Amino acid sequence: MEEEQANSLPIVLPRPDHPISRALIDPDALWIMRRLRREGYLAFLVGGAVRDLLLGDAPKDFDLGTDARPSEVRRLFRNCRLIGRRFRLAHVYFRRRGQPENIIEVSTFRSREKWDEADGIPPQDLDLSGHVFGTPEEDAQRRDFTVNGLFYDIADFTVLDYVGGLDDLDAGLIRLIGDPDERFPEDPVRMLRAVEFAARLEFSIEKNTAAGIRKHAQLIAQGSPARLRDELRELQRRGILAPVLAECHRLGLLTPLLPEVRVTDGLFPLLAAADAVSRDGTPAHESHYLAALALPTVADAYPLAVNATLEDAQRAVARVLDPLTQRYQISAHIRHQAKDLLLSCYRLARGKAYRTKGKFVRRPDFAEAWEFFQVWAEASGTAAEAVAYWQAYLAGEDAPATAIPGSGRKRRRRPRHRGAPTGAGPGG
Ligand code: ATP
Ligand code: MG
Repeated sequence: MEEEQANSLPIVLPRPDHPISRALIDPDALWIMRRLRREGYLAFLVGGAVRDLLLGDAPKDFDLGTDARPSEVRRLFRNCRLIGRRFRLAHVYFRRRGQPENIIEVSTFRSREKWDEADGIPPQDLDLSGHVFGTPEEDAQRRDFTVNGLFYDIADFTVLDYVGGLDDLDAGLIRLIGDPDERFPEDPVRMLRAVEFAARLEFSIEKNTAAGIRKHAQLIAQGSPARLRDELRELQRRGILAPVLAECHRLGLLTPLLPEVRVTDGLFPLLAAADAVSRDGTPAHESHYLAALALPTVADAYPLAVNATLEDAQRAVARVLDPLTQRYQISAHIRHQAKDLLLSCYRLARGKAYRTKGKFVRRPDFAEAWEFFQVWAEASGTAAEAVAYWQAYLAGEDAPATAIPGSGRKRRRRPRHRGAPTGAGPGG
């Protein structure tokens, strides 16, 4: 049921009926909320932190909502900076010796905004009259998904639900707040976020929300590239890019999101291998993900074959990487690293025909390339011969056909290859 509710009462979950204890809340965030409260303002924990605490997870950050205006927040907290367009957000800084800086975001309740934040707004609307600010209910309604629209009130330790988020948390549903025909066009990045939260929380996307994504999928191409890249980076850090993009593909979002990327057999295994690295500890580098996104398309245009030339490969790589990195404003450095990784695949595909093997296998980035290439070969069902050749080469037994009879030089060099990185980890 959807209706425009004005001043409706929230569902109130009293303290004994929910698991959010103050011991689970960041002490700095608690300190700010208590201070706001003492000054007579409302002070809520908002957004992802409430959701995660209710699910028993550790929140990434503790964002606060209040009816204090940003200027009032700044007056209360010396260690505070106003940020964002119109300075509607306050960041309160906590610096302690020997500890990383803690930043708590305090935002004033606001009503729904018609514009995409990333697009900015005409200066004449940049007034301080307060008309963009709103009630707690309006602030809940302008959020993206019901499970992200819950509040925890420091005044009486209750959880406030204006949007049906508690039911959806129980049911495991990602449900857009409001009408998908309005709220997806208003900010298309929400479509990707829906898929992202579903994967992260292992929730399903509610039917009407999913239908909205299918219908408006094309609009994602108009989403703010900077914000889309941020979301994609977050997925990489969490090691869930493969399942999220697979779901995007099912919903028709993938091609408008990444028009350069063709979905072939090799794509998801390459992304999944990068995800596995990310989940294992240090996240896979952005350049590695970029190469994984590009390789199936690049290989489609110019197959990784024994007779492939590096010059042609370079051109094929650039045709895919350049528009991708331009749109998402990915640095030349990262693009260069991705390009190197892709070209290394062409080197590997040449197998015994590749001339400077000794130098190649001793490069610090060889292990990554070798691992990447093997995943690709297996997933795409190609280059099996090249893989077998390199395996033998790395094991120190040159394939019989390539052993140059009587070549003592080659023989003497072999021990250097022993202990060359095999892809099981960084060698040496
Ligand atoms: P995370 O754990 O990834 O930080 P989060 O829910 O806190 O998850 P954020 O991106 O940090 O997500 O955003 C904080 C809150 O701001 C969200 O919970 C949501 O209520 C609101 N929000 C974020 N992006 C949007 C958006 N595009 N449209 C509407 N509301 C949004
Ligand atoms: Mg957050």
